[in-house]
Amino acid sequence: MKAEIIAVGTELLLGQIVNTNAQFLSRACADLGVSVYFQTVVGDNESRLIDAIRIAAGRADLVIFTGGLGPTQDDLTKDALAVYLGRKLHIHQPSMDKIEAFFRHRGAHMVESNRRQALMLEDSDPLPNDTGMAVGVALTNEQTHYVLLPGPPKEMKPMFERYAAAWISSKMTGVHPLYSRMLKFAGIGESLLEHELIDLVQVQSDPTIATYAKEGEVAVRLTTRSATREEAEQKLSPVETEIRQRLGQHIYANEDVTLEEEIIRLMKVRGLQLAVAESCTGGLVSDLLTAVSGSSSVFQGGIVVYTNEWKHRLLGIPMDVLEGNDAPGAISDVTARMLAENLLEQSGTDYAVAITGVAGPGESEGKPVGLVYVAVAQKGGATALKQLQLTGNREMIKLRAAKSALYQLWQLL
Ligand code: ATP
Repeated sequence: MKAEIIAVGTELLLGQIVNTNAQFLSRACADLGVSVYFQTVVGDNESRLIDAIRIAAGRADLVIFTGGLGPTQDDLTKDALAVYLGRKLHIHQPSMDKIEAFFRHRGAHMVESNRRQALMLEDSDPLPNDTGMAVGVALTNEQTHYVLLPGPPKEMKPMFERYAAAWISSKMTGVHPLYSRMLKFAGIGESLLEHELIDLVQVQSDPTIATYAKEGEVAVRLTTRSATREEAEQKLSPVETEIRQRLGQHIYANEDVTLEEEIIRLMKVRGLQLAVAESCTGGLVSDLLTAVSGSSSVFQGGIVVYTNEWKHRLLGIPMDVLEGNDAPGAISDVTARMLAENLLEQSGTDYAVAITGVAGPGESEGKPVGLVYVAVAQKGGATALKQLQLTGNREMIKLRAAKSALYQLWQLL
């Protein structure tokens, strides 16, 4: 199945918003085994939208729209498709009831234009909008499938994942469904990961092996088409086993979770608590941990001890360790260890993580950019220490240092 994505909105053409929906939909289509050949952006103009539909219908089996389903006069996607296909629009009553109930509940007056959000084309299937008002639409016309999704990502994504994906899959007759497994890696970069797996990636066509990298994390997705789940498992398992044999020490999950989510999950199950002291990462580890809902039973708190004075005053690092010609300095294994061990003692937690290093762009204490020390102190166990030489700009070094610290902790767990 060949697809084209049409993102509708003058804001996109003016550069006021970034077309993240197209990125999401392209990736989601790839996951379904649908090949996206074109992405189009068109403004809120009916005749240009009809032109775009005509072109897309001439070269794609599936046309996915995002945007222009709202109540206002410039929300034209349904109207334009109705004109192009010569189909009438009618009100989808369950959506209309929902919109009316919403306004009743708020005690607000519903203006007539809000009815537009309940419009559907004749002979089409509704795609429920669980997080908004405008109903989505799916229909087939002369072998071309059309899927209409709203613009706001928080409405578009759930509608696609919960309803549109299944609708599209149901149209892919004669094609086996896709099965995939996601392996999440930490403590290894994408290029090294690819290097370790390159022979597999090159010879392996079923299942396919794809690597992904984003925000300091790397993942491998194994994908196969099979008639049954059992058949898929038989194809996926040997490849996963092979990857685990090579890189098992870096695999922290076989589903799409972040490293910090996995750490919180592990620590919660074991009733463990955590504290963090950060210098060069400036609170990033605490930020990552608190992004996980329910982290408060594990993560007790973090302190940013950025200056030497604060390292001394808050966590008792002696000034003669931090400063002086023969002193190890703030960026040293000695300081990292003391930060973690003193924090462990003060906080009474089971684990304490400390990070100190040079985020750049210039060197510090005569030490190179990217030099980072991570220490993880634990109750009743030896402190783990790691020296890292990270690359990237200031932002990347901070993120990589934070993720590396989490990786050290995960290894201990
Ligand atoms: P609404 O009911 O909000 O009008 P709609 O379906 O008509 O929804 P638009 O009016 O086109 O959608 O866009 C609403 C908002 O959704 C935009 O202001 C923008 O914030 C976001 N949005 C729209 N299209 C995209 C896109 N392609 N990528 C990312 N965000 C988008």
